[in-house]
Amino acid sequence: MSEKEFRLDPDSELRFEVEGKQDTVDLTLVNGKAEVFGTELAPDKPYTFFPGAKVAVFTWHGCVLKLSGPTEGTYVAKETPMVMYLNTHACLERLRRHADEGLSRGEDTRGPVTMVVGPGDVGKSTLCRILLNYAVRMGRRPIFVDLDIGQGSIAIPGTIGALLVERAADVGEGFSQEAPLVYNFGHLSPASNMTLYNILVSRMAATIQDKMVGNRKVAASGVVINTCGWIKNEGYKSLTHVAQAFEVDVIIVLDQERLYNELVRDIPFIRVVFLPKSGGVVERTQSMRASARDDRIREYYYGLRTKYHPHSFEVKMSTLQIYKIGAPALPDSCMPADMKVDDHMTKLVPVEPSVKLKHHMLAVSLATEPEDLLTSNVAGFICVLDVDEDLKVMKVLSPQPKPLPKTILILTEIQFMDSS
Ligand code: ADP
Repeated sequence: MSEKEFRLDPDSELRFEVEGKQDTVDLTLVNGKAEVFGTELAPDKPYTFFPGAKVAVFTWHGCVLKLSGPTEGTYVAKETPMVMYLNTHACLERLRRHADEGLSRGEDTRGPVTMVVGPGDVGKSTLCRILLNYAVRMGRRPIFVDLDIGQGSIAIPGTIGALLVERAADVGEGFSQEAPLVYNFGHLSPASNMTLYNILVSRMAATIQDKMVGNRKVAASGVVINTCGWIKNEGYKSLTHVAQAFEVDVIIVLDQERLYNELVRDIPFIRVVFLPKSGGVVERTQSMRASARDDRIREYYYGLRTKYHPHSFEVKMSTLQIYKIGAPALPDSCMPADMKVDDHMTKLVPVEPSVKLKHHMLAVSLATEPEDLLTSNVAGFICVLDVDEDLKVMKVLSPQPKPLPKTILILTEIQFMDSS
């Protein structure tokens, strides 16, 4: 196996990608100190990266690293925006201290709610991870909200999610996904149903608000929000809606001066900060994005090192209530006088189980009544493996053994072919 050592000067980073579809790469810190997206590496411990990983190992004071396994695009970069990212963290930390002081005086206050925006592939998720890791390393307990439904890192594509971050991200696997708060959207772009997307964002914001009121440490630590790379027209409007719903204090704009100027103009009462993207951020093609989405679902069921074992079992269709959210829009002239387009977008449409559902992901809603479906979070997701219309049973893949914890399900547009 190929093995190579790299000697890094202070303030530089080693960048690499894991080549191919099979082999993994091990990274070891031989000497000095280094971090991967804000998580410190332990000395002499091999960290394993899987195919598709694009990694930067940064050092503030210099280090020696060893890589074993097939990598590509491997080089050491001396130009990185890390000092600016660290300064941003320091500003957020000042706001957290301020909030701490206020809270101990009994004031109704909280730490900074920060939102990271920018086009696709500028390192938004990575910056969120760095800021969250730095916060946890200072003893904070921030909340991470991921509103990127296409390439998000909580649950599966088509959802928005939130996590309480209690530990730095695992170097290879990211943040621990224990008990995330997940809302099902069911499409891959907010454009598919803006009305529903905004409702879910507002709902998430209200839930997080409550969580902060109940926990002083969490309240002082604040929130970091990752957003979609859709920043034009309706996408821009939805960003301003997120800022409003979460009562955001700081917006970090990565890479796009135009977006920065628009936000400064339109939301003058929020602090808007411009930061450059890292030269290391790797652009992804449409097909890379699609396969990343597939990988996320596979990881949801099987874990990264096939450490989970999902269950497949049959469910009687008569025990399930399946709904789709949003009815096809009718021309204005056909709509009842008292009905608006928005009503269509949030309409619950009962779905008859049929072979058409095969390969679709269904969200298992925590709603007890169908009326609450829209604004209830979800327990998890099942994938329809097969449907027997004669016997009226459906075979599903589930992270949990049977029975299903709830029987009100939401049909999503997201599909998954289980080849494992
Ligand atoms: P966005 O959220 O804006 O779409 P990401 O943060 O997901 O962008 O970054 C895109 C890809 O680039 C990810 O795979 C990430 O691991 C990689 N990446 C980010 N920063 C660096 C860097 N400094 N060096 C190498 N790869 C990086």
